[in-house]
Amino acid sequence: MQQLFGLNKREVAEILRRKDINPTTQRIEIAYLLLQRPQHLSAEEILQKLNKEYEQVSQATIYNTLRLFVDKGVIRELVFSPDRIYYDSHIMPHHHFIDVETGKIYDIPLESLPMKDINISGIDAEVLEVSMMIKGRLNQPS
Ligand SMILES: [Zn+2]
Repeated sequence: MQQLFGLNKREVAEILRRKDINPTTQRIEIAYLLLQRPQHLSAEEILQKLNKEYEQVSQATIYNTLRLFVDKGVIRELVFSPDRIYYDSHIMPHHHFIDVETGKIYDIPLESLPMKDINISGIDAEVLEVSMMIKGRLNQPS
């Protein structure tokens, strides 16, 4: 299953409705910005981008909306550390590579790291999803 990006505002509103979210104007603007492409943005970056293009959106509104979107599965939250939280518009399972020089985050397809027969010893549980965060340095900085 592929996730679609670059949706128009009507399609974004439809996604919110399907996820049980009342599509208010501000929620549509925030989701529209996020769902343009697969991307990883911090709340501050989202706030900056929105306030450049639209009317002022308060920080509280952004945080509340991001929390709602994460809870309803519109976006995913990536917590690298308590002060480095990103919102990922790509909700299909995948891994991440973080360039330690620039902090840039790259998506790594799930199948590029074969991980069948994962055995978590000591815990009686069924593994539903595995996602890795790989830290490294690009050989040829772009
Ligand atoms: Zn990602």
